[in-house]
Amino acid sequence: MGPRLSTDERLASVVGRSPSIATLCSHSSLQIFHGARIEGLGAIGLCVGEPPRFYDAFPLARPDRFLSVPRVRDLPTLESPLRDAGAVIVPHGSFVEYLGPEAFGALDVPVFGNRAVLGWESDREKEREWLEAAGVPMPNRYADASEVDGPVIVKYYGAKGGKGFFLAKNREALADFHPTGPYVIQEYVLGTRYYMHFFYSPISDGGYRVGTGSLELLGMDRRDEANIDELYKLGAQEELLRAGLRPTFVVTGNVPVILRESLLPKAFEVAARIVEKSIELFGGMVGPFCVEGIMTEELEYKVFEISTRIVAGTNLFVSGSPYSDLIAPDLSTGRRIAQELKHARAAGRLAEVLS
Ligand code: ATP
Repeated sequence: MGPRLSTDERLASVVGRSPSIATLCSHSSLQIFHGARIEGLGAIGLCVGEPPRFYDAFPLARPDRFLSVPRVRDLPTLESPLRDAGAVIVPHGSFVEYLGPEAFGALDVPVFGNRAVLGWESDREKEREWLEAAGVPMPNRYADASEVDGPVIVKYYGAKGGKGFFLAKNREALADFHPTGPYVIQEYVLGTRYYMHFFYSPISDGGYRVGTGSLELLGMDRRDEANIDELYKLGAQEELLRAGLRPTFVVTGNVPVILRESLLPKAFEVAARIVEKSIELFGGMVGPFCVEGIMTEELEYKVFEISTRIVAGTNLFVSGSPYSDLIAPDLSTGRRIAQELKHARAAGRLAEVLS
């Protein structure tokens, strides 16, 4: 199932007018609406039931209007009012996850970025194929438990919300794993996690050149993950298991981080290769994406995941980060999205940033 309208038909709703930015009221919506407002674009909040009250507490990030549906799966019924309003949908993690990548990909409303990326990112196998083809170092994957020669993390396919992982310090400990569905066994990488917030513009001149445009680094965070991040207080995983608790990686918040400056070339190289390969495989990623990986003591950055849209860690940087401050003042990822839309419109190149 895909969209019924052709890309040209869909994009006709924004041509020749100032677009409004629409997104689901969750995740990074405050930042996205705030960015739209600073850049003088309209902002439409999509919500399930009553509009969330927290926008009243943040007047600079309140959308101009809300469109509400009774259930998430009814969001596609808003297609025509959204097109009538000249809306561009900005995807974020919760929006795509709640609606499902297929239903999201089928929306007949212009979407910021290339919706073809959804099929590559939401499937662990295809994501790996993409990153490996790009020559990006990743955690080793074991075809069988008998090959395991160190600590491992076992991930179910489509694991949701940080739960359902199994950690084993060695092959023997893996014997305690009793699968309840399809899974992969991955090397558990010992090191420090960095979630790097990049932005790829296919239409910008200057900057760090990749493909037809430029690659920007807008910020970096690390996630607070319960209960694994607090494990040290209990001494060891065995203690948790004895208490009947399994380690989980439920994200509860984010902390800002920066990388040793000498590691920046490596960060850009990895991100550039991911962008270049995306252009070759499916016409390219556009806009924000996050490279999620672990820096080892050998200073090798192993990527375990890529998120191809704005991530919630960018919420730390509503008024800029130590990286975006060196590009322009007060530049959040939300604002950068609004700018890209304006630049593309002014240059008559909307088709290159929307799908
Ligand atoms: P998401 O909600 O981001 O899609 P997911 O279910 O796809 O999550 P991952 O992002 O792959 O899961 O992993 C969740 C967490 O597990 C990471 O944030 C990281 O802390 C840890 N992790 C994942 N892979 C590894 C690895 N190979 N070695 C060590 N830690 C890892």
